[in-house]
Amino acid sequence: TDLRAVNVIKVLREILPIIKNEALLHNIDVSFEKSVSALPVVIADGEMLKQVFLNLSKNAIEAMKRGGKLSIRLATMAEERQLQVEIIDSGSGIPEEVQEKIFEPFFTTKENGTGLGLPICRQILMELGGTIEPDSSETGTTMRVYLPLA
Ligand code: ADP
Ligand code: MG
Repeated sequence: TDLRAVNVIKVLREILPIIKNEALLHNIDVSFEKSVSALPVVIADGEMLKQVFLNLSKNAIEAMKRGGKLSIRLATMAEERQLQVEIIDSGSGIPEEVQEKIFEPFFTTKENGTGLGLPICRQILMELGGTIEPDSSETGTTMRVYLPLA
């Protein structure tokens, strides 16, 4: 790992074309919104952060078989010294009996899934003092990532 101060807007901008390409193939609209009151800088390995957001976006796209909307929202919560990134999909949601298992290595509901995306995301975030919180309903899923601001 190569820890340094990284601007998360820059990280997201670098992977947005990849996400948009994949979304386009599946009839999914992508939006990127940001509301920042503080510099959105965290101490992290930029490549590993990219991996986190790519994994979450991939899951979001895979949950929208008939098209939909993927929103990526970045916000700084200056008082809490936290950065929040939400990956929001309008997909099928995560059934309640599945929710408790999604961070277990090799747990997958997909024919060709590895079940490693979310455990790896959580591991990377933990090492940076961050967290990930899923929030799902029948109308879609929000994955909320929190990281300490530098
Ligand atoms: P994989 O994508 O290979 O199945 P992950 O660890 O990325 O493995 O995800 C584990 C499981 O969590 C998925 O198989 C799926 O059931 C569920 N999941 C993750 N993200 C979403 C999402 N955005 N919408 C619906 N289900 C999801
Ligand atoms: Mg995955």
